[in-house]
Amino acid sequence: MVYTSTRNSGVKVPASQAISEGISSEGGLFLPVSIPQLSVEDLKSLVKKNYVQRAEAVLSMYLTDFSAEEISRCVSGAYASGKFSDPEVAPLKKLYDNVHVLELWKGPTCAFKDMALQLLPYLLNVSAEKAVPGKEIVILVATSGDTGKAALEGFKDVAGTKIMVFYPDRGVSPMQKLQMTTQEGANVAVCAIEGNFDDAQNGVKAIFTDKALGERLKEKNAMFSSANSINWGRLVPQIVYYISAYCDLVAKKNINLGDKINIVVPTGNFGNILAACYAKKMGVPVNKLICASNSNNVLTEFIKTGTYDSRRRFYTTISPSMDILVSSNLERLLYLLADMDDTYIKSLMNELVIKGSYNISQGVEEKIKDSFAAGYCNDGQTKETIARTFKNRGYLCDTHTAVAVKVYEDYRHETGDGTPAVIASTASPFKFSASVLEALNPSAVGEDEFEMLKTLEELTGVNCPHQLKGLEEKKIRFGNCCATGDMKNAVLEMLGI
Ligand SMILES: *Cc1c(COP(=O)(O)O)cnc(C)c1O
Repeated sequence: MVYTSTRNSGVKVPASQAISEGISSEGGLFLPVSIPQLSVEDLKSLVKKNYVQRAEAVLSMYLTDFSAEEISRCVSGAYASGKFSDPEVAPLKKLYDNVHVLELWKGPTCAFKDMALQLLPYLLNVSAEKAVPGKEIVILVATSGDTGKAALEGFKDVAGTKIMVFYPDRGVSPMQKLQMTTQEGANVAVCAIEGNFDDAQNGVKAIFTDKALGERLKEKNAMFSSANSINWGRLVPQIVYYISAYCDLVAKKNINLGDKINIVVPTGNFGNILAACYAKKMGVPVNKLICASNSNNVLTEFIKTGTYDSRRRFYTTISPSMDILVSSNLERLLYLLADMDDTYIKSLMNELVIKGSYNISQGVEEKIKDSFAAGYCNDGQTKETIARTFKNRGYLCDTHTAVAVKVYEDYRHETGDGTPAVIASTASPFKFSASVLEALNPSAVGEDEFEMLKTLEELTGVNCPHQLKGLEEKKIRFGNCCATGDMKNAVLEMLGI
């Protein structure tokens, strides 16, 4: 399998290079030149397998320069070493009738980012051995919350790597902050910055492109790399769980092999739903991919009208991991639907930078409407959905999952489409306990994070994941906060150079 770039179809690199470099040098995103196909027979054999075996089968179709032994080592390290609290890794839970939720938050940080970030360090290690042998990989992350912690957990004590995470001092939830400041591991560092998420991200970008610093790293036989969702190594693990969910529905006799399903995804950067789109293109029978957004509804408008317009008010919502106006992974979808026309993609992305918006051609718009549906809801509707879903269905969802549930209900009501559905559930409700409590019983909202975890448990009878409860006992290791101008020094200090 050869990988190319959305902005230069002349690029031809193996998977290991695409994963070690993260982003193509002209700024495009790597993706495979063709999409491997699953026949009905292939699906039938996957139905009989467990999650680890399914992951091995899917990864081996994409990472053709990895040996079977390497793939097996990566997959077992991520999913079979006790880091996921559920033996099924990504279990399907029935919500009602033919509607299931796919719980993607059984990993160490209780958000779906673990599904990819537990595997990425292994993939990156093997990739680096092949593409840049002997080099130490230094991962830099700017995070608004979930990605930073998931990356820290994934990379902690992984030989040949170091990781440093920057987060906005006042821009993450108290629980997310504690998750990061108490991080264990000998190769990790965490630093708050005085500024918002954009400042953190700009600071990290400036360090990535600092030529002199790059040279100093080279002298130390090290290089920077990225763990954010534009890396193909983060996308490929996500394709696995959609295929696995389909197989589970067949195995549990909820559907027959060949029946179509709808997939609903609470969306921010478009990574998770793009993975569902790849599963569909590989041959999983999918009717509609339903893209759910919060009040930052740039994707809803895009899917309905073909106009992507990022020039709009930015809302800070109770589903913060979806507060985003420029969804980077959309570029990959457009490239696929525009028949790999790199010149066309370059012009769209250029317009986005210059004007803040672009229109797609009618041909591409029709293809999008064919595969996708979209909707959004505001914070009030999100809370109302959490309360109603708990009361009527006995299911407690987090704020992001609730957006998907609401958008799905609206879709089903408007279209009458009763195709069996899988709704991606992306975080534990205990990660956003204040908002979830407010939805269920506003008077139960308190000041203390750990008190609120207990209150939520008592109110719902649902157990809080031990990883979150256990934070109360952990020592703060990284209480430092630096000015954005000092981020480079923080990196130098961590590297000891
Ligand atoms: C990151 C995240 C999302 C959005 O996923 P994308 O791949 O960026 O679309 C949704 N929910 C939660 C809880 C997340 O952490």
